[in-house]
Amino acid sequence: MTTLTQSLIQPCGERLVDLMVPADKFAELNSYAKRLPSIQLSERSLCDLELLATGAFSPLDRFMGRRDYERVLDEMRLVNGHLFPIPITLPIAAGEAVRLRQDVALRNTHNDLLAIMSVEEIYEWDLEETAQKVFGTQSLSHPLVSEMHGWGRLNISGRLQVLQLPRHYDFRDLRLTPAQTRELLTTYGRADVVAFQTRNPLHRVHEELTKRAIEEVDGVLLLHPVVGLTKPGDVDHYTRVRTYMALADRYYDRERIVLSLLPLAMRMAGPREALWHALIRRNYGANSLIIGRDHASPGIDFDGKPFYGPYDAQELVEQYSDELKIGVVPFRELVYLPQEERYVESIKADDQTVTASISGTQVREQYLNKGNRLPGWFTRPEVAEILAEAYPPLHQQGVCVWFTGLSAAGKSTTADILTVLLLECGRQVTVLDGDVVRTHLSKGLGFSKEDRDINIRRIGYVASEIVRHGGVVLSAAVSPYRSTRNDIRNMMPRGHFIEVFVNTPLEVCEERDVKGMYAKARCGEIKNFTGIDDPYEPPLNAEITLNTVACTPEENARLIRDYLVRKGFIRVTNNPECVILGNATVSAPDSIAAS
Ligand code: ADP
Ligand code: ADP
Repeated sequence: MTTLTQSLIQPCGERLVDLMVPADKFAELNSYAKRLPSIQLSERSLCDLELLATGAFSPLDRFMGRRDYERVLDEMRLVNGHLFPIPITLPIAAGEAVRLRQDVALRNTHNDLLAIMSVEEIYEWDLEETAQKVFGTQSLSHPLVSEMHGWGRLNISGRLQVLQLPRHYDFRDLRLTPAQTRELLTTYGRADVVAFQTRNPLHRVHEELTKRAIEEVDGVLLLHPVVGLTKPGDVDHYTRVRTYMALADRYYDRERIVLSLLPLAMRMAGPREALWHALIRRNYGANSLIIGRDHASPGIDFDGKPFYGPYDAQELVEQYSDELKIGVVPFRELVYLPQEERYVESIKADDQTVTASISGTQVREQYLNKGNRLPGWFTRPEVAEILAEAYPPLHQQGVCVWFTGLSAAGKSTTADILTVLLLECGRQVTVLDGDVVRTHLSKGLGFSKEDRDINIRRIGYVASEIVRHGGVVLSAAVSPYRSTRNDIRNMMPRGHFIEVFVNTPLEVCEERDVKGMYAKARCGEIKNFTGIDDPYEPPLNAEITLNTVACTPEENARLIRDYLVRKGFIRVTNNPECVILGNATVSAPDSIAAS
């Protein structure tokens, strides 16, 4: 244990890197930068720049040059010998206006100037090698490996002069640089600081881990959640930070906790990531880090196999703990004993012991989606309420029912009846009918492939906004192209896009010919008419396929409503008699990316 008179642990490399230009140079550099070629940084590179600039990555003071990059891949070390497990690089596309020995302005997506880089190196990097060495896999099921396929193939490196940090307007009081965090920690009068890394809402199990750790080190907890980039699909940081604030405020001894937000872009690299977390936290003033099971892991791959062993991260950090001068507070998996009302390490519970746990998937599917409150042993009531607010039950969430099929197949007719049935169940509905949209949103567009695509994408965009805001949207447009429909599917959350194929044979549509269009198309009066002289690509994996020859429009509309009830988008209590009529087929699971 460290005594009270001792100060916080030194940063890596003994001093914090500081890339901010001095105030007296700012005006001159700012006007100089206006004449420079610019590159726009991705969200990930912005996070990296911020942490480089403030010294969170000390002793690293730039995006890595080739020698640092290669040694990091092979040995987890910089050229100067210092441990550094993750490559921090600035990839650019081949066509960018960047030349060796020239200065380039680094900007954000709004073109605000952030930094000037004096380009000293431009080099190619190897995707497969990086993926294999850093992540231990080349599988696209790893989120970072998949993301790297979209990165530019050249890295640039050179001295950085930072004029401005990326601006954050949320939770400003909680956004502390390493220097500010150290300053605040110093006022607590304790040299032992244990950091806790998280990218999830805090539940009782995390509270338990952190409180045990505070006791173990007899120091201060640096509650240090990541608010940069985490794993795609994670709970958004706005919601998470509200849970951290509620907990820090009510359930911890205020003398023993500092809550600060870390704008880190995680790589989900498991063991190497854990070591990186330790290095970063040391720069923020912590001399130990809590590492539990599956630290910073992206979960399982396409074959259901975990990317990393559950305790690989602990082992790797323990291996380098002395060199990095940061202790590991390790935890095995914790489980709850309902009969004793306490948490224990799962290895201490034998086969006969009754244990309880709720997985992240269960939190969403069994509780939030169904509007069930999370139990008190699992989550504090304040946290349960914030989560319930941010993730309303499915029957209050948005959903898009996307009809597709030939003209006169029966899309509008079925959608109109479905609208009434949904209103009857208490849902708000917007119908985006092809014809109506073309008179308002898409006036002036024709029927060329481009125009049709623009039209469908406009409908898709509006539909996705309605879904985001919790409404039900029915789209009834021919939408003949499979890939465009698939793009629209990807604009919605998984499972919230219900593709309904109105599978009416061309002869029947032609027979119906509600608007006399087929007749005109046949005699060449109308060109590019779907089904006649323009293709229709039927869905391969529609959630619902309707037969409009054997079933009436009402039967089909009820069938779709019934599907929505089964999926949870309509509350059953509102809708006592829900019977499937007719012989239309309902197929496919929650969401299938139609190819
Ligand atoms: P991360 O992906 O960054 O590890 P999490 O929020 O999932 O973020 O986890 C934060 C920390 O808590 C990690 O060290 C993780 O290993 C640990 N942890 C989470 N759940 C448990 C559990 N049930 N038992 C033990 N450790 C856990
Ligand atoms: P779309 O919107 O697909 O172009 P409409 O719904 O405007 O098609 O037109 C379909 C026509 O077919 C309507 O006149 C409707 O009354 C008739 N029809 C006959 N049987 C059915 C059915 N089972 N489902 C839907 N429409 C049907």
